[in-house]
Amino acid sequence: MAPAYLSGDKAAIEEFLSRFDTFLFDCDGVLWSGDHLFPKVPETLEMLRSRGKRLVFVTNNSTKSRADYKKKFDKLGIPAEVNEVFGSSYSAAVYIARILKLPAPKNKVFVLGESGIEQELDAEGVPYIGGTDPAFRRDIEQSDFDNLANGSALDPDVGVVLIGLDFHVNYLKLATAYQYLQRGVIFLATNTDSSLPMAHSLFPGAGAVGAGVVKAIGKEPLSLGKPSQAMMDAVEGKFHFDRSRTCMVGDRMNTDIQFGIDGKLGGTLAVLTGVSKKEEFLAEGAPTVPAAYVDSLGDLLG
Ligand code: PLP
Ligand code: CA
Repeated sequence: MAPAYLSGDKAAIEEFLSRFDTFLFDCDGVLWSGDHLFPKVPETLEMLRSRGKRLVFVTNNSTKSRADYKKKFDKLGIPAEVNEVFGSSYSAAVYIARILKLPAPKNKVFVLGESGIEQELDAEGVPYIGGTDPAFRRDIEQSDFDNLANGSALDPDVGVVLIGLDFHVNYLKLATAYQYLQRGVIFLATNTDSSLPMAHSLFPGAGAVGAGVVKAIGKEPLSLGKPSQAMMDAVEGKFHFDRSRTCMVGDRMNTDIQFGIDGKLGGTLAVLTGVSKKEEFLAEGAPTVPAAYVDSLGDLLG
């Protein structure tokens, strides 16, 4: 069905909002772009809260923890609680700690990623190596090949390789992850976004960074980010919402909107301030079509 265009249509907005008790919000591209807050975002969220709607902020950005996100919300003047944020780094940490529950000692995680992942693993009590450790932020040397091949550079307690966006990705990290995977450890990703928007252009995302390892091992990781339903199950496990009365709001068709559709949510709302343009979902035979769309989130104020 063609999506409903809600901007400027007060009656249609009212009817749409009345169908939901919970709104899952994507962050970048919906609330802000980088450090630029979109117009009327705090007021729109306030309007939804004043009507008793529950808000959850679901982001694929694994470079930040929920605490980092809370700081960003504060800086931009968006009222939100840490507990309302559900990031892909948190999603992965919760999955490892509470669902995988690997028995010690083989419960250590080799991290390809930034401090957001480390903070969430710390909070869940999950041991890890790699990440921001300077020992992995260097060029590979001949001795590394030997020590990785004979296993002496590998930690026998590693049971999981977790890949997120790593701004310091290098051959040593890719080779180390590949060595662990060849030994049969569990393969996870915080998210598999091909790209991410920054400074008005797209840059390689976590999926692009992880692609080298995926290609080498010939196996896809289980993703704990949108559109993976492992993330939806984790979000639902924490917030206990009625899916039929929940709406996913996002800017990207193949992550946010697909996440809501696959999760059989009551609705999906696309906003046009981010990655996907309306031509993408209005085109004949478009693979992912939202239930409704607005030009920008603030249009919900009517
Ligand atoms: N991954 C990274 C590293 C990012 O910086 C961003 C956006 O800032 C994203 C993913 C996408 O985040 P969201 O799901 O909030 O659009
Ligand atoms: Ca987004």
